[in-house]
Amino acid sequence: MDTIRHATFETGRCMLGRLPHGKDLVGTIEEFCAQNGIQTGVFSVMGAVTSVTLGSYDQNQQVYVTYKKEEPLEIVACTGNVSFKDGKLAVHAHAILADISGQTIGGHVFSETLVYAGEIYFRELLGKPLERKYDEITGLLLWQL
Ligand code: ZN
Repeated sequence: MDTIRHATFETGRCMLGRLPHGKDLVGTIEEFCAQNGIQTGVFSVMGAVTSVTLGSYDQNQQVYVTYKKEEPLEIVACTGNVSFKDGKLAVHAHAILADISGQTIGGHVFSETLVYAGEIYFRELLGKPLERKYDEITGLLLWQL
């Protein structure tokens, strides 16, 4: 029977931070991790963006389909993790965003997504870093466990 392959971590630092105005969401979090020696972690962000690039994985074509929206949007929810991809630190984030009338869009967050203001809750995880590897079945870069 298939089961959830997993790794176990100790909890590290617990951090709260303010995201810089006008900077890319994904890039900023990757930079934050590099500067603080974080290799693995989970986070959530709330705030607002001035533009967003979102995508969904087309399971038939096995490619991400992305689109960009250039308008003020509220980050209703954004959750993500940090691990390694091609030997480099990589953020994986998903978000739901709302426009001025409360209509929501959501998906996988890509660069460039420009932050208007944002608050991050970051939880560092200590242990053997996770590495993403190409998965034959899905075509995705999944954790090697
Ligand atoms: Zn994703």
